[in-house]
Amino acid sequence: MGERLVEVTGLRIGYRTFEGYTKVLNGVNYHVNKGEKVGIVGETGCGKTTTVKALLRILVRQARVTGGEIVFDGKNVLTMGKAELSRLRGTGISMIFQDPMLALNPVFTVGNQMGAVIRYSGEQGVEKKEVRTELAVRALRETALPDPERILQSYPFQLSGGMRQRICIAMAMATPRKLVIADEPTTNLDVTIQDQVLKILKSRVEEKQSSLILITHSLGVARETVDRIYVMYAGSMVESARTADLFKRQLHPYSQALMSCIPKLSGGGVAEGIPGRIPGYLNPPLGCRFAPRCSRAMEKCRREQPLPVTVEEGHSAACFLYGEGS
Ligand code: SF4
Repeated sequence: MGERLVEVTGLRIGYRTFEGYTKVLNGVNYHVNKGEKVGIVGETGCGKTTTVKALLRILVRQARVTGGEIVFDGKNVLTMGKAELSRLRGTGISMIFQDPMLALNPVFTVGNQMGAVIRYSGEQGVEKKEVRTELAVRALRETALPDPERILQSYPFQLSGGMRQRICIAMAMATPRKLVIADEPTTNLDVTIQDQVLKILKSRVEEKQSSLILITHSLGVARETVDRIYVMYAGSMVESARTADLFKRQLHPYSQALMSCIPKLSGGGVAEGIPGRIPGYLNPPLGCRFAPRCSRAMEKCRREQPLPVTVEEGHSAACFLYGEGS
């Protein structure tokens, strides 16, 4: 077993809304080892982004953490003071967001923005402009961006979507980070450059020996990039396994349905998708939140929440079809 970098246990988060209190995260458990690449896969609205934003303590004001623990590099993130949080964001974790146009400020040049991020890292010598420029040029070159000096003088709107996302990757990794979080980093890009951006992200993380959490709704994207996958549904992790093991055998009915949605090169028609939708979080189902969409649901599933059960080494599922009495 590798050394733990992130350990999240029983995390419960909800949001105050006009309609009432929504119970989004329903006891989330996951971990990331040092140097490991982990994917969190699930439909839009299942709580993936809330899960990782909690790690950086950048949730919106309406969010409430009502239970659980987040430990990063041996420290409890939920009780960190301002100075420790600032260190966490400056040198511990960096995040690449889905939309590079929103992540980059349109009124500042790329150089200005990269310089500010590098300065905040507190690395040796970064108070000098030449050092910051040198680090920015190197980071842009490492993400295969041509003519980095020109890019530093450019404004985000002068660059293509693929270039902007590579700039975000360069910015996130210009100085050493223990963990990089990438939240759907290729969703807003043309299909032709999605693969290129993912490969750059993967190789940069491996070279820097950082850990990675990749958030995606696509099992295919996760398969290409990560060592281990968590399948998330309606606020909890329903299955976790090494990538190869999950593709060989899916235990949870939701993972099985998700897998059947991947288009196959061998044909077989268009995938139909999973019938139904993620339940509302104002009054979510009492037991297993997948029960209303599950063809194998039993009476017990509607009363009790299933807990994760290890079915084979390194492979677990939160479903009453497994474990004692199944
Ligand atoms: Fe289906 Fe029951 Fe398993 Fe939930 S616990 S996925 S409802 S079989």
